[in-house]
Amino acid sequence: MANGLMRPLLSAAVLCLAAGAMAPAAQEAVDAAMVARIRDEGLQRSRARELYLTLSDSIGARLTASPAYTQAARWARDRFAAWGLANPRLEPWAFGRGWSLEKISAEMTAPRYMPLIAYADAWTPSIPGVLSGRAVYVGDKTEAEIQAMATQLRGAIVLTRLPQDAFMEMDRPQPGLSDAPVRTGNPFIPPVRSAAPPEQLLSLLQRAGAAAALKPSAYRDGTVGVVGNRNTASNAVPSIAVAAEQYNMLARLTAAGTPVELRLELRTRYHEDDLNTYNVLAEIPGTDPALRDEVVLVGAHLDSWHTASGATDNGDGVVAVMEAMRILTAVGARPRRTIRAALWSGEEQGLLGARAYIQQHFADSAARDRLAVYLNDDPGSGRTLGFYMEGNAAAKAIFDAWLEPLEDLGVTRNIIEGIGSTDHVPFNEAGLPGFNAIKDFDAYDERTRHTNADFPERMSEDELKQSAIVLATFAWHAAMRSGKIPRAPRTASTP
Ligand SMILES: [Zn+2]
Repeated sequence: MANGLMRPLLSAAVLCLAAGAMAPAAQEAVDAAMVARIRDEGLQRSRARELYLTLSDSIGARLTASPAYTQAARWARDRFAAWGLANPRLEPWAFGRGWSLEKISAEMTAPRYMPLIAYADAWTPSIPGVLSGRAVYVGDKTEAEIQAMATQLRGAIVLTRLPQDAFMEMDRPQPGLSDAPVRTGNPFIPPVRSAAPPEQLLSLLQRAGAAAALKPSAYRDGTVGVVGNRNTASNAVPSIAVAAEQYNMLARLTAAGTPVELRLELRTRYHEDDLNTYNVLAEIPGTDPALRDEVVLVGAHLDSWHTASGATDNGDGVVAVMEAMRILTAVGARPRRTIRAALWSGEEQGLLGARAYIQQHFADSAARDRLAVYLNDDPGSGRTLGFYMEGNAAAKAIFDAWLEPLEDLGVTRNIIEGIGSTDHVPFNEAGLPGFNAIKDFDAYDERTRHTNADFPERMSEDELKQSAIVLATFAWHAAMRSGKIPRAPRTASTP
């Protein structure tokens, strides 16, 4: 509340001029009475913090198809049901096996004792028993040199990469704070490097019979970036990421000839009893006989990576969607079109839940015609500043009008540029209007996204409330206007 997050709009005059220049914004209706009710409910009787902490603390990380993911999906469905939304449901789609971590322990035992900050790649197999042994460094070895080390590598704990000397130093530029065009999307993550081709390393080590493969990540100060590959074989060499500074120390000592002894325990579990995972859907039915079959879809991905709490990626987006639906229900919203919430699974493996939904529900053009708009809340943490408009100037003029009554809550501007890498993308690919919220990127790239540091502290209660209010007002207006959101030509969707 006191952290300066509810900033006044810096350039209201500029925005008004811009909106005036695009004539449709001036005529676009804004439902001031409903905006006031949504704001009152969202600010005075918010459940956002409670939802956020349940998701982050009580359920925690939600790797796709893991038991924790399914628990989160059932919890969200049950909340939707408790609030009185219609048709709360889990929609299955085929994914493959889940995975969860049961134990990891990584320690240096010589030349002195030191516990290590270490995480297994998702879908990595277990290490049998307790593995103790001397670290073998191959980061500076070519493919041929590694092949020649076969005897030394059998059963060994292998340091696979060069010491990490390039790091995620900063967050991406914030496109919502400047009138100048800003590069949008994920920033470059410095690679972890090795003398041998990185994509060959694990198979080389597997052929040599190595027992474990250690690598650094490109984050600083104990932060470890960890993802994983769902196609990892059950007999692959277990792959563990170690905090870069610690990895570098192990590599330097070993390369200098100091014997380094390590002790590892790693127990993981594959979940193969149900090879489906589930999107969560629920809705507020439309009431206009001519429009109620049309859908305004608001969504966020519920799955996360596995090492922390999935708080900023993407618990905050999930809370925005859930709380927006709760607010709309609480104020008695009876929209003309149906407003449907979607919480996706499998986003982190390739936007798979949204893609499955599009395949299941928008296969034919009549069905695609019934989607009024899709609004997604994902990359970034913090408040919502506006929307990436994907090159769609006609839609931007409408969204600009909807943003105005929220200016005092810290929204700033919609930008004409698009953004990739999240769940609105497959909608755009199918020719459907999908837009993603512009969020703050405070510490998101540099610290929390896909790391062991993605905990709830990076979002304030004010920001959670604000994000939900923005989504609720946009969903309401999209459900009430006489026309659907204009479709953009495909070629204009990416700047
Ligand atoms: Zn992510």
